[in-house]
Amino acid sequence: MKLKNVGALFTGALLAASLVACGGSQNSQSTGSSSDSSNGAAKTYTIATDTAFAPFEFADATNTYKGIDVDILAAIAKDQGFEYTLNPVGFDAALQNVQAGQADGVIAGMSITDQRKQTFDFSDPYYDSTVCCAVPTNSEVKSLDDLKGKNVAVKNGTQSQEWADSIKDQYGFTTTTFDTSDVMYQDVEAGNSAACFEDTPVMGYAISQYEETSGKEGKNFKIVAEVEADSKFATPYGFAVNKGANAELLKKFNDGLANIKKDGTYDKIVSTYVKSAK
Ligand code: GLN
Repeated sequence: MKLKNVGALFTGALLAASLVACGGSQNSQSTGSSSDSSNGAAKTYTIATDTAFAPFEFADATNTYKGIDVDILAAIAKDQGFEYTLNPVGFDAALQNVQAGQADGVIAGMSITDQRKQTFDFSDPYYDSTVCCAVPTNSEVKSLDDLKGKNVAVKNGTQSQEWADSIKDQYGFTTTTFDTSDVMYQDVEAGNSAACFEDTPVMGYAISQYEETSGKEGKNFKIVAEVEADSKFATPYGFAVNKGANAELLKKFNDGLANIKKDGTYDKIVSTYVKSAK
């Protein structure tokens, strides 16, 4: 079985889960044999990603996966001549898939942290990020101080969750954990959580989409706190493979990234999604 970019055809947790099973068996077959595909072509990599993390990866109205991560991976694969299957499984699941050998790599707005470097090898950084705290625009919460005695929503396994956990005693709030950003936002909109903690480019995009489309998409939120640029929670995104594994894929990613930065493809992709692109 040889599927290219099949993740682009599907959305939804059930389909994503079946794609994982597919990617896993495909992967184990290919590692056991040197001629892993019917026509003897090179290996098809399995790449795990998040489900809903716009503008980096998200399903559009036609259920096609797109976003900065999706598009730069496609451009790098084209530049470097490799094939891959994209599995949108969720952020924490994506990291676990790679660690369990069910995926060769992960691209999911994944922050390059010292802790993760103990278990993953990262590509060169491809996007700067920080983390922030956001509340509904009509909220009375104006700063972290106003979260005292309240509950906030965080996303499992993320840097923003780590930031929230590191300050919750100081500010006196509790946390509820969600697997995906979209369900986390819904909890805030439903009034169950007073705020959510999220990556700033992702929250900024959700807010800008709301402003552009008058509430049809995006979020009617405002950012009330953001870490400083020199914080340990302000780290760029990288593509990752399991530590010590898939060095050839990491090299292809880095070589391709350099090429698409040089020829303007990277800037073009980013400016498709982000208005004030660097
Ligand atoms: N950048 C954050 C992290 O790596 C969140 C990524 C995500 O939710 N996809 O922890």
